[in-house]
Amino acid sequence: MKIICIGRNYSEHAKELGNETPTEPIFFLKPDSAKHIASTPFYIPEFTNDVHYEVELLVKINKLGKHIEERFAHTYYEQIGLGIDFTARDLQRDCKSKGLPWEKAKAFDNSAVIGKKFFSKNEFNGMDDISFHLDINGEQVQIGNSGDMIFTVDKIIAYISQFMTLKIGDIIFTGTPSGVGPVKIGDKLEGFLEGVKVFKVNVK
Ligand code: ZN
Repeated sequence: MKIICIGRNYSEHAKELGNETPTEPIFFLKPDSAKHIASTPFYIPEFTNDVHYEVELLVKINKLGKHIEERFAHTYYEQIGLGIDFTARDLQRDCKSKGLPWEKAKAFDNSAVIGKKFFSKNEFNGMDDISFHLDINGEQVQIGNSGDMIFTVDKIIAYISQFMTLKIGDIIFTGTPSGVGPVKIGDKLEGFLEGVKVFKVNVK
């Protein structure tokens, strides 16, 4: 499986990192070795002093597809989850300033937290009204709603599938809302989808 992440899909978050609002989706990949099964601790890697949390809605692909038309994109996923796109912000800043790829900052081991619980998309009031939030040590630090995405899930699928085949089990991280920030040892991160707790990660 592959993990595809969308960057800058919420305008408030694009602004907080000093980026322009994109006119087409920006995406990057994480390898399957980046997968972190939530409920086990996350160890801050030695190569960074600034790991940021980014809570994101996840979409699981359930049908093989290439060149998917936007109007059919909804038939390529059924399940919605929640995760964290851990980012070594210091390395990312360095890569960006040199015009280099972001993999070091984004694709490292355990950088893709995937909550165990996935929900049928039919359990929500439509794909454009799914709310989620992230708490750290019991305090809400990020809150988002899929209705604020710049590019809808269907648009994202249509766009990505022009370039690469989507396969069963692939997971799309759909971008983070504003409020990202650093984690420190001892933090407890809890993600909620429509108020239901989906994951808990202890930072060590
Ligand atoms: Zn992200």
